[in-house]
Amino acid sequence: MNLQERDRAVNWHPYTQMKTADDAIPIISGKGVYLFDDEGNKYIDAVSSWWVTLHGHAHPYIAQRVSEQLNTLEQVIFAGFTHEPAIQLSENLLKLLPENQQKVFYSDNGSTAVEVALKMCIQHAYNQGKEKTKILAFKNAYHGDTFGAMSVSGRSVWTKPFGEMLFEVIFIDTPTSKNLESLKTIIKNHADEIACFIYEPLVQGAAGMLMYDAKDLDELMKFCRKQEILMIQDEVFTGFGRTGKLFAANYLSEKPDIMCFSKGLTGGTMPMGITTSTNQIFEAFLSDDKYKTLFHGHSFTANPLACTAALASMELLLNEETQQNIQRILEQHSQFSEVLQEHPKVENVRQTGTILAWEIKNDEQTSYFNEIGKILYNEFLKRGIIMRPLGNVMYLVPPYCITSEELFFIYTQILEVLDEF
Ligand SMILES: *Cc1c(COP(=O)(O)O)cnc(C)c1O
Repeated sequence: MNLQERDRAVNWHPYTQMKTADDAIPIISGKGVYLFDDEGNKYIDAVSSWWVTLHGHAHPYIAQRVSEQLNTLEQVIFAGFTHEPAIQLSENLLKLLPENQQKVFYSDNGSTAVEVALKMCIQHAYNQGKEKTKILAFKNAYHGDTFGAMSVSGRSVWTKPFGEMLFEVIFIDTPTSKNLESLKTIIKNHADEIACFIYEPLVQGAAGMLMYDAKDLDELMKFCRKQEILMIQDEVFTGFGRTGKLFAANYLSEKPDIMCFSKGLTGGTMPMGITTSTNQIFEAFLSDDKYKTLFHGHSFTANPLACTAALASMELLLNEETQQNIQRILEQHSQFSEVLQEHPKVENVRQTGTILAWEIKNDEQTSYFNEIGKILYNEFLKRGIIMRPLGNVMYLVPPYCITSEELFFIYTQILEVLDEF
């Protein structure tokens, strides 16, 4: 049996209707922006392998650091024990975040980082004898696939089978200068019962790269602060340079109480999640009463290999060359978006930093199941480019090591495909 047949026999793939899906493409190796399949074809990874790969595949520096760590200490229980990579990573990360972020809690992925954040907020109220059980979130939000994370995500085909079991959330629109006052009224009416407000800052990724303004979010955050509603800023996607600045937080003057990270955290090398919090939240769990402890932890909490990958990736992220690359991608995207805007089949072109998105005009109601997405996906694969449209929304989220030639190649192919289909 070949790899595809063996895969079919045993593997169940994510977000995949296994009955109708094409065979998965076996990838043998990766290097920089390229992935290589078992037949010798190469593909440009224009989506950073589900938005995680920052510096390209099989980066030699990250590989070297992880390999050294693997020969030193691969794992240790993080209750009662600690280690240099976790301490160093927390120190390095906190230095880059808004100064109110003071403590780091480790977990395994973006969804768990969100679960931890929600539990921190709900128990923060509980530990003070307050009952606050509702969460404020945006319509179209995506915060992950575990139950808590799914609960605070917009209701959609993805959450439908579990609808009755998700907890109570007050959903509001993302802010605009026009709707801000009405959003404030909704929040004010529920302020007593809201444990926290969770949001993807500036870009709602999984909903189709929907973007909104930092100044409107700042207004909303200011209002939540006044109402004493805790804020969870989910930077799982926007973190580590995606928005053109290190974090979406760098576009905001208001500061959240809690922040969530994953995806680019390890440069896409290893799974890891981080939830950071203020001292104020941390202190609400300090007590002689054991019941006030944050009873949460995963087997692989602060895994030394993942911490080391994150340390190496952040070093690469902060160096001059990467920062220049990010600025260059941003400028190239910006120029290309002017061309796209003029295209008769394209609408709603939008960009935040290295994230460029646009929609294909079509008669069908916009939806996740939009067939155009699949047609385009296959057309780009044939041309050696991995794109993964969300319905009729197309987007580019490239690794930062992509060259200007490689970007131009992608842009050219996009225009050709648009003209042909
Ligand atoms: C992807 C994503 C998550 C979930 O992360 P996983 O690692 O896939 O569990 C949470 N929040 C946002 C904003 C995301 O984009």
